[in-house]
Amino acid sequence: MNRYIKKIIHEVYEQRTDPLCAYIYDLEGIEQHVRNMVKTMPKQTNLFYAIKANPDKRIIQALLPYVKGFEVASIGELKKVRDVSKSIPILFGGPGKKDYELEMAMKENVFYIHVESLLELRKLIMLAKKRDKHMHILLRMNIRTKTLPKTNISMGGRPSQFGIDEQLMEEALSILKERENTHVHLKGFHFHSLSNNMQAALHVDMIHHYLQKVEQWKNAYGLTINVINAGGGFGVSYDATTRFDWPLFTSLLAQSEAVQNLGDTQLFFEPGRFIVADYGYYVAEVIDIKMSVECCFAVIRGGTHHNRLPASWGHNHPFAVLPLERWQYPFARPEVKQSKVTVVGELCTPRDQLHENAEVDSLRVGDVLIFEKSGAYCWTISHHDFLGHPHPNFYYIMEGNYYEANNYSIEQYNG
Ligand SMILES: *Cc1c(COP(=O)(O)O)cnc(C)c1O
Repeated sequence: MNRYIKKIIHEVYEQRTDPLCAYIYDLEGIEQHVRNMVKTMPKQTNLFYAIKANPDKRIIQALLPYVKGFEVASIGELKKVRDVSKSIPILFGGPGKKDYELEMAMKENVFYIHVESLLELRKLIMLAKKRDKHMHILLRMNIRTKTLPKTNISMGGRPSQFGIDEQLMEEALSILKERENTHVHLKGFHFHSLSNNMQAALHVDMIHHYLQKVEQWKNAYGLTINVINAGGGFGVSYDATTRFDWPLFTSLLAQSEAVQNLGDTQLFFEPGRFIVADYGYYVAEVIDIKMSVECCFAVIRGGTHHNRLPASWGHNHPFAVLPLERWQYPFARPEVKQSKVTVVGELCTPRDQLHENAEVDSLRVGDVLIFEKSGAYCWTISHHDFLGHPHPNFYYIMEGNYYEANNYSIEQYNG
């Protein structure tokens, strides 16, 4: 945990009377982490950040000097990145791209479009010609393999709405060769087959599999390939098990003959979760503690409308208890000791649960829970306005200091 977190909570707590509920993003931690990540990457590789994991503009800003670019999957996300930089390379992906999205992608000079279907390819060819705009693309491929690592989310190696079935590859290539196509240029392939893989060696195996596939396609169809995008999916553990070993991953890559033989072909990675997960803290005050049918519940000011990840994945989200002393009532302060506690939110649904049967030493109403690992897919995937409770406050740690700011909503970029 960042050493300033508790100090920040104490200071914020002193300044206010309503119960605490906040996100704290450790921007300097993110910077440090991504600098370390990039340091060990082989020279044929490039790091992008998939902003859907956390599209907070200040995070994009903090990452800007260290990443090659950003992966986006909507115009809202595209504009967010362009708000921070007019020139940083953008990869534009996503199933179901609309004409206006493809046109905006052209207007905003995206680096590569990840084309996900044959229809999308035809539309892009038509629109690029109409605008007289040359576009570089990667075909997102769904490869038919049974050997991808097993994780709790997978997007490939099985029937899926993502990418182009590898059996349709020849058709895609023939569309690209049609006389109609004057402006769309195939530069490589994109794969993003899974999320939250914990095993570095398996990840390298998967990449070898991608590289082998591309080698076969190159030979079979006489293609020149500049880029292979191997996606994201590097795992973060939310329990005591070990996390993805990035130094091991990059050292295996550096030793890999297939990677060394890439020559001028660049290998891209576009993780989201692994870059930001550890640098967000969701902080919420305990409003009530009660027993119900032999079970103890702690109700917090907040819940899954701010941090839906534990409900979405069905996991128990790790947290620490920060004892706070304020108690302004003339009656006893509820407290449990050495107890199992189920942590739930302020919503009127039993699904609003962040941790079941957590062991706590001591917990009182008015203490604060600090949910760690809340930097990725927490705020951004949550139904913020369900039940109409106020949003959390947002604080940002930078250069040993912190400041409060509005969290930009994505709506303002689509509006
Ligand atoms: C979501 C997504 C990512 C990032 O995935 P993580 O599991 O957060 O690393 C990368 N690429 C694509 C195409 C995605 O959809």
